[in-house]
Amino acid sequence: MKTDDEKRINEVKRRRTFAIISHPDAGKTTLTEKLLLFGGAIRLAGSVKSRRAQKHAVSDWMEIEKQRGISVTSSVLQFEYENHVVNILDTPGHQDFSEDTYRTLMAADNAVMVIDCAKGVEAQTKKLFQVCKMRNIPIFTFINKMDRAGKDPFELMEEIEKILDIEAYPMNWPVGTDGNFKGVYNRVKSQMEIFEGGHHGQAKTSAITGKIEDEVFGDLMGEQLHQQLMEEIELLDEAGNEYDHKRILKGELTPVFFGSAMTNFGVQPFLESFLELTLPPAPRISKEEEIEPERKDFTAFIFKIQANMNPAHRDRIAFMRICSGKFHKGMSVYLSRNQKKIKLAQPQQFFAQDRATVEEAWPGDIIGIHDPGLFQIGDTLTEKDLNIEYKGIPVFPPEHFSRVAPVDTMKRKQFIKGIQQLSEEGAIQIFKPLNTGIEEIFVGVVGNLQFEVLEYRLTNEYNVQIKMHSLPYRHVRWIETEKFEAENFSLTMDSILAIDDFGAPVLLYQNEWTVEKVEDRNKGVVLHTISERN
Ligand code: GDP
Repeated sequence: MKTDDEKRINEVKRRRTFAIISHPDAGKTTLTEKLLLFGGAIRLAGSVKSRRAQKHAVSDWMEIEKQRGISVTSSVLQFEYENHVVNILDTPGHQDFSEDTYRTLMAADNAVMVIDCAKGVEAQTKKLFQVCKMRNIPIFTFINKMDRAGKDPFELMEEIEKILDIEAYPMNWPVGTDGNFKGVYNRVKSQMEIFEGGHHGQAKTSAITGKIEDEVFGDLMGEQLHQQLMEEIELLDEAGNEYDHKRILKGELTPVFFGSAMTNFGVQPFLESFLELTLPPAPRISKEEEIEPERKDFTAFIFKIQANMNPAHRDRIAFMRICSGKFHKGMSVYLSRNQKKIKLAQPQQFFAQDRATVEEAWPGDIIGIHDPGLFQIGDTLTEKDLNIEYKGIPVFPPEHFSRVAPVDTMKRKQFIKGIQQLSEEGAIQIFKPLNTGIEEIFVGVVGNLQFEVLEYRLTNEYNVQIKMHSLPYRHVRWIETEKFEAENFSLTMDSILAIDDFGAPVLLYQNEWTVEKVEDRNKGVVLHTISERN
């Protein structure tokens, strides 16, 4: 019988929590499905897709998602694989909801970057990659769609290194890159792996393995391809980066895997290698102090609030990432922000496609709890120590702004309540312009579709019709200065002052070069791109 301490340490050690990032269409959903398939969470891959036709996909909770056929929200999936507990943080594919993705990345310990072999590093991959880089988490690369003709593998390596500014180490090297993908050479095990089976991705694949020089591979792939492969491997060994596990863990070197999620080629070796190389939950920072996940008392932070998970009940779920200790159903915790004691009701965990009530959970796990309007993004929850407060979740700068008001002025109260709730959920950001003489509300979003969500939800949940007037501002910066005085602040033609929802002064502006001008004109003022919440 293990003691409680031993059990906790073991539970931490076997957990792996990661997010998958990619440009839309690179194959994130397909890879997620396949990982679930190998984890035994679903019997046949593709069942997520086929369900989509009948009902809706795993994460399509909101009506708007069904209407537009895009995934607005993130979801969390958990499965076990060879004594590991794997938590996948799925994120919305559409770039208009990237703010949600950014926040989700704060809860992950590792990231998997999926790249389409024919397209290489795309715009959205680059943006999301930068957020991972900011946190120095290990980043694993899966180059997908190798069953189709794509760019030259050497070219892809160079693209990753040049565009993303990270060194790359190919863990395997593809055989047949012109739409005739046969397998890979596994550089870690120094062996060939020629894939078989798969039945178009419906079932697991097996592989014929052996030494690269073995004649059987000459027969299997043809003499010419075999010869070419041996030369390429030699070149990689001589001229490529060195393998360095420590640098992988620091996010300085990305291990690269070639494969095809659709046909299952290379997915299982990727999963196995990934689990071996990734980090279990690491300590998290609270007020300059490191909180070890093995610590006895429970701590967690809220990184996401999601409304309408179940439209029939109009519920709101707060997602927390457990950082230390053990969570058990019905426990009471303190909310650091106001030191209120809260009983955690209806805790839920997300196993593949089903929600289940959680009895217990451990560091690295993500659980959703019913939120009657108590929580805010970035909140810390603790069992005992009232002095713990996890570093805030950054607020990502909106890129689109609108003036928003209720059509019916009698409904102002509901309107304010609605936008405030949506702001607490992180669905929008609210700004109040200064020096305009009238009380106005500006809403800022990262992607334009968030305005649609705002309109839809205010109408459906708060019974408020709104009018929106698009504003020319494209950027926001948070103003840091010893003493902020709006009256004495010198502006440019294209900028205005406002305060954010937390009372912090900001500058909204149209052109990039405004920053320099405003800093020049206002001595001692520094303009920041990302403000931390709390
Ligand atoms: P996401 O937008 O990144 O989640 O991409 P999806 O997983 O939905 O995939 C986008 C499209 O690419 C779909 O039509 C998939 O069937 C297809 N796809 C995904 N993986 C592969 C692959 O390995 N090979 C090929 N040929 N197509 C793939």
